[in-house]
Amino acid sequence: MPTMIAARLHAYGSPMTLDRIEVPEPRPNDVLVEVKACGVVPNLARVVSNFFGTLTPDNKMMPPLPAIFGLDPAGVVAKVGSQVWSVRPGERVYVNPGRSCGSCRMCRGGQPYDCPNWTLQGYFGRSQDIMRAYPYGGLAQFITAPATALVKLPDNLSFESAARFGYLGTAYSAMRKVGVGPGQTLLINGISGQLGLNAAQLALAMGATKILGTGRNQALLDRVKILAPARIDVLSVPNAPHGPTDPLVAWAKQATDGHGVDGMIDCLPPGAPASAMMRALFCLRRGGRAVNVGAVLETLPVNAFWMMTNRIGLQGSVWFTTGEGEDMAAMAGAGTLNLAALEHRVSPLSKVNDVLAGMDDRNGGFTNFVIDPTRVG
Ligand SMILES: [Zn+2]
Repeated sequence: MPTMIAARLHAYGSPMTLDRIEVPEPRPNDVLVEVKACGVVPNLARVVSNFFGTLTPDNKMMPPLPAIFGLDPAGVVAKVGSQVWSVRPGERVYVNPGRSCGSCRMCRGGQPYDCPNWTLQGYFGRSQDIMRAYPYGGLAQFITAPATALVKLPDNLSFESAARFGYLGTAYSAMRKVGVGPGQTLLINGISGQLGLNAAQLALAMGATKILGTGRNQALLDRVKILAPARIDVLSVPNAPHGPTDPLVAWAKQATDGHGVDGMIDCLPPGAPASAMMRALFCLRRGGRAVNVGAVLETLPVNAFWMMTNRIGLQGSVWFTTGEGEDMAAMAGAGTLNLAALEHRVSPLSKVNDVLAGMDDRNGGFTNFVIDPTRVG
């Protein structure tokens, strides 16, 4: 049997080790992908230290050990199963890690992301069975995945940029729910972070007329504005009490002839207070919609009567469909989605523990952490 190198976690809280294991054979509906780049999200450091395991003490959300992590793999199809007809070896692809059972009521109804067993391959999720069926994350030289999970990549989209699809797709799916498009003003709460920057790049591609963004680091905010100075405005917002006289709300109203923004995407990082999200909600116009893809953990002091009388919508969103991934690949291929501002920081697989330990050293969302599993030394 041919073998490969994979970074495996044998115990939560311990470093990963490079192990030589067998290259898996794809099942009839699966493909084998040779990984050329895998995105590493800052949250992975929390995951491998068992942060989520401590939230759910029975550990049902975490993959069985030893585990191969890696959420955002991009590479080349090496082999296809006997029942795969639309994908051929040699094609460049991103592997969407979102897995569902395929046969429950929600899956049969065309809403696989509402599957009670929904699981992220190479990360964690709700089904131990799915994690056992797809145990290969992108921190390995080869992975198997269902053929239905593949996003075909245009030639002008690098593997490194595709390895950012997790953040991009999360932002894209949220913006579709908000209804971003021409004539719309969008507020991105936390615009200079990993999610927020990608949201800004996508909002430009989707034709939003005006993009407002908040953040705390003025230098990073200035860099975001440079992406499209005529369409993006940024405001540095220190943590402060919220309310109708909030300078953030006043700024958003001033930018929209006093009405408020059409949509708000919350991209705040873990640890941000609930008040920081409430302030952004108050920037919405009557009938405005907000979608939360950020990581505020505190409970929001939401006034349901205010929401009702102002027809405010607030929805949560997680990840993105493979179809939404195809949309992004098409936009990147056409050049309407410009990802040139990303700074790829590519490391060999052997440096994975160093990468995880050093993720706080980054230029906000501009830094794109990528592991290249073809390099092990
Ligand atoms: Zn299902």
